[in-house]
Amino acid sequence: MNTYDSVRMAELLNGTGIYESVDDPAHADLIIFNTCHIREKAEDKLFSELGRMRKSLKGRDVRFAVGGCVAQAEGYQIFRRAPFVDLVFGPQNYHRLPRLLQRLEAGESRICDDAEHAESKFEALPDTRTGGPIASVAVQEGCDKFCAFCVVPFTRGREWSRPVDEILAEVTELARGGTREIHLLGQNVNAYKAMDGDGVDHDLALLIRQVALIDGIDRIRFVTSHPVDMNEDLVEVFGDVPELCAYLHLPIQSGSNRVLDGMERGHDVDAYRHWVKRLRETSPDIALASDFIVGFPGEDEAAFEETLAFVEEIGFDHAYSFKYSSRPGTPAAEMEHAVEESVKTERLARLQAVLNRHQEMKNKAQVGKIESVLVEGVSRRHSGEIMGRTSGMRTVNFAGSESLIGKIVSVQLTEGRANSLRGCLIDEECDRLDAE
Ligand code: SF4
Repeated sequence: MNTYDSVRMAELLNGTGIYESVDDPAHADLIIFNTCHIREKAEDKLFSELGRMRKSLKGRDVRFAVGGCVAQAEGYQIFRRAPFVDLVFGPQNYHRLPRLLQRLEAGESRICDDAEHAESKFEALPDTRTGGPIASVAVQEGCDKFCAFCVVPFTRGREWSRPVDEILAEVTELARGGTREIHLLGQNVNAYKAMDGDGVDHDLALLIRQVALIDGIDRIRFVTSHPVDMNEDLVEVFGDVPELCAYLHLPIQSGSNRVLDGMERGHDVDAYRHWVKRLRETSPDIALASDFIVGFPGEDEAAFEETLAFVEEIGFDHAYSFKYSSRPGTPAAEMEHAVEESVKTERLARLQAVLNRHQEMKNKAQVGKIESVLVEGVSRRHSGEIMGRTSGMRTVNFAGSESLIGKIVSVQLTEGRANSLRGCLIDEECDRLDAE
């Protein structure tokens, strides 16, 4: 979501005719930090990056702005820790950037815009989109789930869905510009609920069906989903919309019902198991990804071992895992039975060892398959090679011309590694996702 917001900020400012994006901060007159508040480290990183960047500019007169969730949560406090910052704005206010910058130009200093505004930021953003082969479109924002550890409901606000027609118009514009893969974004994307211009209610499943009908869109993904908002319609689109990639990121956070209860996730392990079963029945090759937090208050060794057993049982294709870090203002920050830092570190290493083993096993199991791959760019690891992703979000590096960037090609997978695959180009033209 933050990447999407950053892209939209750049589009907004480029559209003013006053600002122009540059590749190197050394050439910038304005530097915007778009921040995440989900973990303590991200917040500390902001202040160290601000200091590092300022130092590297060696006294050059540059304006600094801080946007995103740290800006929303910290507001004026940011000026206390980094007095050289000129502007602070929340994630719902970035459409006001041109006006805020005008106020700075007019002589105001230290402006903080963290108030909620009645106007929709999406209505104020430019219609023109400049996506590459892959582009994101925000369809839903905010969260009503209030998990005990999370700041999102406080920084991004309550769940809110964009109107269907607005989304379809944005995707159509991107497809016209050559985008082939669309990522539908939301903090709880599968809580999506909105009407189209004819008054027809749409959930995420129906929205996906509509997006799939747009000429030029060959691949669709959506992120991030909540187990509580899963439903049969959404499972079925995996079976009958070929444009929908066989990949789902469905965070569970813990494999222990007691810990899930403490986290106030609103579901248990069995509910999650049910959706995995249904998804695999409907789309047998679906790649499943998840998120885990270790060391949540009250997580004892037995509860942690339940998580390990659950991970072994499901066999995730990919997962993000973190040590719990207390966020001020959340219920979990007040909880007793905190887990020692050293225990968290040790548990995270044990969990990641299992997750990594599964990921590598799953990658190796792909060897021999022919997959459609959307070429995203040049390989970072293998010079002279290009890279792209399979429907299941697996990165594949293979020899090929840079002229294939943006195309969907057929690739035979030849080697499975810990984090990626190697392959060899079979066909430079491939229809969407229907490689064998
Ligand atoms: S569902 Fe996700 S975004 Fe919402 S409160 Fe829980 S962790 Fe945060």
